[in-house]
Amino acid sequence: MSSAKPVVRVTVWGEYRHEKSNPKVAALYPQGMHRAIADGLARLGGADLAVRTATLDEPEHGLTDAVLDSTDVLTWWGHMAHGDVSDAVVEKVRRRVLEGMGLVVLHSGHYSKIFKALMGDTCSLTWREATDKERLWVVCPSHPIAQGLPSYIELPAEEMYGEPFGIPTPDELIFISWFTGGEVFRSGATWRRGNGKIFYFRPGHETYPTYHNPQVQQVIANGVRWAHSGLRIKDQCPNMKPLEPLPADPEAAARPTVGHK
Ligand code: ZN
Repeated sequence: MSSAKPVVRVTVWGEYRHEKSNPKVAALYPQGMHRAIADGLARLGGADLAVRTATLDEPEHGLTDAVLDSTDVLTWWGHMAHGDVSDAVVEKVRRRVLEGMGLVVLHSGHYSKIFKALMGDTCSLTWREATDKERLWVVCPSHPIAQGLPSYIELPAEEMYGEPFGIPTPDELIFISWFTGGEVFRSGATWRRGNGKIFYFRPGHETYPTYHNPQVQQVIANGVRWAHSGLRIKDQCPNMKPLEPLPADPEAAARPTVGHK
């Protein structure tokens, strides 16, 4: 038997629009934010993470059936073009998550169609683009996503996100952020939907070098590994034959056995 760790096939999805229209963003991420996120994963994951990227303006947003069927964990960064993501692709991603694909939603992805669909909530928050420092406190140090981190991560400048955050109560809360302006925010949280595991991680505004930060890269790599289930369980709703003999039922022949009543 092989003792090698399973390879996690990761698809890093990026909107890749700010980089083409804002010189400040292009200077920070000349090959795109998705490339910086993917490079961080490749560096930290070594041979255990097989990383590729996909972007909004590729056919089917780069998320064809072939790509989704060979993706164990999808990471998602979007902001200015949430509305340009096709509902058909969102539905395909949602179905894959329910089957067991992991999903790591980053920063402004809180307002993406896929995150809102899976949360079933507004996903709204308060925000400010200013000169805030962000300090992300680890509130669950035993969690796999917190491994290798100090007791907090400090980012010298970031966009502020504040509460109330319109999410269902998380299954697990891993980070709470504090900002210079006084706000706090549930900045690292997990949920399960169907057979899939979802991790939301807050920092990553496009005008800051956040995705070059090694600790941020560590959290995303930990999140990807945590979200990997290795499972794909197709949804079905079958009619069941009894395992034990049942009393005679004179109406049984008249009942449907196909389709959900
Ligand atoms: Zn932002």
